[in-house]
Amino acid sequence: MTTEPSPGFLDPVPDEDGAPFWAYAARGELRVQACADCGEPRFPPRPCCPHCHSFSGEWRRMSGRGRIWSFVVPHPPLLPGYAEVAPYNAVLVELADAPRIRLAGNVVATPGAAANSVDPARLRIGAAVRAVFAPAAPGGTPVPRWLLERG
Ligand SMILES: [Zn+2]
Repeated sequence: MTTEPSPGFLDPVPDEDGAPFWAYAARGELRVQACADCGEPRFPPRPCCPHCHSFSGEWRRMSGRGRIWSFVVPHPPLLPGYAEVAPYNAVLVELADAPRIRLAGNVVATPGAAANSVDPARLRIGAAVRAVFAPAAPGGTPVPRWLLERG
């Protein structure tokens, strides 16, 4: 187990639709795209609402609270940077403010800690987590990472 970000982890490559998500993340804000007409949140970001087909969108700020909807514990074979820190956890977090939106990520001990900084045996489906923002790789883009809520 290490306490530094993980060299070799991939950095996000924002596209036009997703660029605002990463711009807000760099400011420490978790925002989800939502339809400006019917209000339905959508993820991943895209131009058209799958619910009402409107092209009007807005970026709605989330509290950052959520629950572990599912998780896996990856083992090699993995990309080299990931194999170095395996086993670690990879979680799907269901957002408290938008329960149909689930974000993939990693539960860590502190915002800048390594992907393997929390023993996967500590994780449970339904456990409360909250978002923090830090690069997963040294010098990388701030990404949402997840801390276990106490008690
Ligand atoms: Zn809509």
